Amino acid sequence: MKVLVVNAGSSSIKYQVFNMKDESVLAKGLVDRVGIPGTTLEHKPTGKDEVIIKKDLPDHTAGMKLVLEVLANSEYGVISDMAEIGAVGHRVVHGGESFADSVVIDDAVKKVIKDCFEIAPLHNPPNLMGIDACQELMPNVPHVAVFDTAFHQTMKAENYLYALPYDVYEKYKVRRYGFHGTSHFYVSHRAAEMLGKPYEECKIITLHLGNGGSMAAIKDGQVVDTSMGFTPLEGLVMGTRSGDIDPAIVWFLMDKLGMDTAEANNYFNKKSGMLGLSGVSNDLRDVLEAAGSGNERAKTALRVYYNQVKGYIGNYMAKLNGCDCLVFTAGVGENGYDVREAICADMDYLGVKMDNEKNKVRGKEVDVATADSKVRIFIIPTNEELVIARDTLRLSK
Ligand code: AMP
Repeated sequence: MKVLVVNAGSSSIKYQVFNMKDESVLAKGLVDRVGIPGTTLEHKPTGKDEVIIKKDLPDHTAGMKLVLEVLANSEYGVISDMAEIGAVGHRVVHGGESFADSVVIDDAVKKVIKDCFEIAPLHNPPNLMGIDACQELMPNVPHVAVFDTAFHQTMKAENYLYALPYDVYEKYKVRRYGFHGTSHFYVSHRAAEMLGKPYEECKIITLHLGNGGSMAAIKDGQVVDTSMGFTPLEGLVMGTRSGDIDPAIVWFLMDKLGMDTAEANNYFNKKSGMLGLSGVSNDLRDVLEAAGSGNERAKTALRVYYNQVKGYIGNYMAKLNGCDCLVFTAGVGENGYDVREAICADMDYLGVKMDNEKNKVRGKEVDVATADSKVRIFIIPTNEELVIARDTLRLSK
C-alpha cells in the first residue's frame, strides 16, 4: 500500500509518500505560504530532480489538490493515479486525554481535535484544515490521526499533575501533556533495538533537541516523565521559548513591560530562549559561531542551555533509578557534536562517559559512549513520518 503522510501548519503543508512494501519514501515536499501571495510547492521525488512550482493558492484544499496533481504527474510524479494512495496519515499535535494511540478519523475524533483548539491554538486548527482538505479530495480512503501527545499518555498522575487546585485539572484539563511524542516513540524503540533488549525492559532518556526541544524518561515501555507540559513552552531552553521559569516572572513582566496576555504569550514563546538570552539568533549554529568568536552573551546562553539539559538528565536518572542509554535526536541532537559533548561532560558519576572522537559525527545512527560507559549514548536520527505511515497502515488494514 502507498501511504500519504500530511503535516499541515497554518500556512504550510508538508507531505511524504511511502511505499509500505519496503517503507521507502517515494517523494516528499512542502507547500509553503498557503493562503498568502507567493505560494511555493517544493516537490522532491526520490531519485529525480526537485521540482518547484509557484502558484498562489487560497487555502489548504487548493494546496492539497496541487500536491495530488504533482504526485500523479507523468514527468515528476511517483504514482500513476490518485487512487494508488491507500490511506492518509495526519500529524495532529494535541489529542488531549482522549487518545493514547493513533486513531482512524471520524466525526467524533474531529470533535476532540476541535475541543483541543483552546489548548493548542497554533497547531490543532491547521491540522484539522489539512484533514478536511484531504477528506474532501480523497473521501474513499481511511484517514488516520497520529497525535504528538499520545505516547505521553502513559504518564502517571504524579508526573502529569501540577500542584494547582485540583479542580482546574478536572474543569479545564490543566496538566502536563508532553509533545514530540512521535519522535520520542521512534527513537526510544530504535534505542531498545540497539541495546538488544526488549523495549519493555529498558530505561531510556530521549533528548529531542531542535528549535523546539523536549526530553522524555521511559521505563518498561511507559513514559515516566517529559519536559514539555500543558503547552510546548515548558521545559528546556529552546530557540525562542523560555522553557522553565518562575511563573511569577510572567505577571511581573506583564506589569513592567505593559503586556497583555497575547503579548506575554508572544514574549515567552517567540522572543525568549536562545534568541532572547544570546541576542544573536534562535538558530543554535549562529549562537555557537558567535560564542566561538568570543561573544560573551552567546557563551553564557550556551551554558544556560547545557545546564538545563544536564539538570533534566539528573532529574530523569533519579526518577528511573539510572538508565541504559541517552538518545540524542533532532537538528541539534543529531548534528551538534560540540553540544552533545558539553552536555555529557563530567557525568561519569552518573555512568555517562562519551568518546569525544567517536562523537564527532552528524546525522548517523551510532553509539558514541566509551566501551566502559555504564550508560550508552546513542545518536538516532528521528523519523516521525515513518511512525505516522506505519500507524496509518496498521489502522487501515
Ligand atoms: P529542528 O527543529 O529539529 O529542525 O532543528 C533545528 C535546529 O538544529 C536549529 O537550531 C539548528 O541551528 C540546529 N542545528 C542544525 N545543525 C546543527 C549543528 N551542526 N550544530 C548545532 N546545531 C545545529
